[in-house]
Amino acid sequence: MGDLLYLIIGIAVLGVALIVGLVTSGRRGRIEPPSGGTDVLTTPPAETDVEAPVDEPPAVDLAPTPTLERPEGTASRLVRLRQRLASSQGGLGRGLLALLSRDRLDEDTWESIEDTLITADIGVGPTQQLVERLRTRLRVDGSGSADPRAVLREELLALVDPTMDRRLQVSGADGSPGVVLVVGVNGSGKTTTVGKIARILVAEDRSVVLGAADTFRAAAVDQLATWGERVGVEVVRGPEGTDPASVAFEAVKEGVATGVDTVIVDTAGRLQNKQGLMDELGKVKRVIEKQAPVTEVLLVLDATTGQNGLIQARVFREVVDVTGIVLTKLDGSAKGGIVVQVQRELGVPVKLVGLGEGADDLAPFDAGAFVDALLGGSSGATAVRP
Ligand code: GDP
Repeated sequence: MGDLLYLIIGIAVLGVALIVGLVTSGRRGRIEPPSGGTDVLTTPPAETDVEAPVDEPPAVDLAPTPTLERPEGTASRLVRLRQRLASSQGGLGRGLLALLSRDRLDEDTWESIEDTLITADIGVGPTQQLVERLRTRLRVDGSGSADPRAVLREELLALVDPTMDRRLQVSGADGSPGVVLVVGVNGSGKTTTVGKIARILVAEDRSVVLGAADTFRAAAVDQLATWGERVGVEVVRGPEGTDPASVAFEAVKEGVATGVDTVIVDTAGRLQNKQGLMDELGKVKRVIEKQAPVTEVLLVLDATTGQNGLIQARVFREVVDVTGIVLTKLDGSAKGGIVVQVQRELGVPVKLVGLGEGADDLAPFDAGAFVDALLGGSSGATAVRP
């Protein structure tokens, strides 16, 4: 009797176990939506195993990945821009060579040579110096054996001064980023130049932060933000009218914190009065230097403005220690002689030249290549030396 009871209990336990087992195995085939799940996760299980049809729109909105531009590499940019330089400046050399190749170099011819040089904005002092040298080396009657082209090249090169150090100081010391301050009057091409320099550095695999400290022009800030976005460079900005010094400070702080190679700071170019400019740029420089030393101060001058550009250069020289000049819009002017004048005026080298509105139309200045461009670029390979 007792045995029978145990048997009945045993069968009952087995039966219960069998039923529980069946129920749980049925559940295991279903995917439970996790609490708080999104639409994607509540998709029925059968469908999650099936690949979505290719023409189905994605279940979630993905932010579009910005396509970054790859700035043009140095070698091809230099070849292209040196050709452009030759086409805008070549007239000067051709004009001078035509005059110097005359059978007789009389007073009228020398006067025409002087006029040609003055018209190209070389300046009165350098023109007289050059004419003196040419007169001595190419005998007055034109019967000397010297080659006018070779003599002219040497003398022009001496004026442009190939000995100046034209390297951009874009690296800092002791782990700090290099800090490049870009100054100049509105319209000179300052903001564009900041964007173009960033592209040159990106093309050389350097990391960059930009500071949009031209806070008086909302357009300049937006313009710089676009330049940065195109090549994936961070742009530090503030609301319109923010103190330029605070934007400059934040930009350099960001550059130090993220360990970038170079911070480039755009500045406001209001020339309302010298004192105002001096106060503003002085403050920008002071606050930057609480973070890291300024390694380069570039003055941007529009090559088409001639004497006006020189007047601006004088004002900026008095308010800030300019270490290099960027001459923009040389593509739109045959007056490349301004290089000589502005270098003499400021005692600092032209380091970069702007040769167009294109994003990669900025080139390092090279004295030899420049003189070859003045002479029409026909002396061959030196004009395209990388
Ligand atoms: P900013 O006011 O000094 O910041 O001047 P922007 O950078 O806004 O430039 C003023 C104008 O000059 C813009 O239309 C630029 O595209 C143009 N520009 C700048 N550099 C060059 C250059 O080298 N060549 C030419 N042709 N235009 C330039």
